[in-house]
This record gives sequence, structure tokens and C-alpha cells, in this order.
Amino acid sequence: MERRRLSRAERLLEGRPCSRCSAWSEPAATHCAGCRRRFTAAEDATWRSAAGSASATIGEAEEVLADLARGVLLERIGGRGTERTMSMTVSRG
Ligand SMILES: [Zn+2]
Repeated sequence: MERRRLSRAERLLEGRPCSRCSAWSEPAATHCAGCRRRFTAAEDATWRSAAGSASATIGEAEEVLADLARGVLLERIGGRGTERTMSMTVSRG
């Protein structure tokens, strides 16, 4: 997973870019925060589909991270013993 692609995806879920002035507005905004232009229906549709694939990208990344975390945990259990892993879990709350 490319980090740059992921941060762009997160950005798209937090706001929407303006195609004219490239300012970022709230996802629910009807007007651009930069140039005050009203977003068109076509822009709404474009942003919605971009945001949809962005959340899919983030979902994929979370799965990869979860797999990595599981791998690390299994390594700890195998290498250092379950007891130590358990006490770490408890102390974290
Ligand atoms: Zn604008």
C-alpha cells in the first residue's frame, strides 16, 4: 500500500477539492470555500465516486495493517511466550 495514495484517500473523505480554485471544502458543502462557486451536480457525482473508492482504499489498508499486527502478535506468542503477551494486553487496559 502506497502511503501517498492512502493520505490522498483520507483527504478525499475529509473534504472535497474545487476543480476551479483547488481549495478544499467540507464534504457536505454546496459552495466552494475558496471561490464561493456552487458545486455542480456533475462535480457532486465525481466527488461521491472518488470518495467511495477512497474509503475502499482505506479499508484495504486497514486489512493489511490488521494482518501485520496479527503477524507481530503471533511472532511474540511463538518467540517470547503467551504470558508476556497477555500481561502487555492487560496493562494497556
Ligand atoms: Zn473554488
